[in-house]
Amino acid sequence: MSQREAYQFPSSSGGAGTGYAGYDTATGPKVTYICGECSAKVPLEKEDKVRCPSCGHRVLYKERTKR
Ligand SMILES: [Zn+2]
Repeated sequence: MSQREAYQFPSSSGGAGTGYAGYDTATGPKVTYICGECSAKVPLEKEDKVRCPSCGHRVLYKERTKR
């Protein structure tokens, strides 16, 4: 019954399970929009105002993402 420690991973020096969490909500999902006026790429977060920073146009199209 003394061979339990043989199951530990060789590189583990601390607890297990922590160290990889909260990555999804760290910066928030950004969506890139395309300005309908000047076709500039406008990265926006969900709560940002929809407005082109370069020309001030308020109609932005969602950029198509490859999946
Ligand atoms: Zn624009």
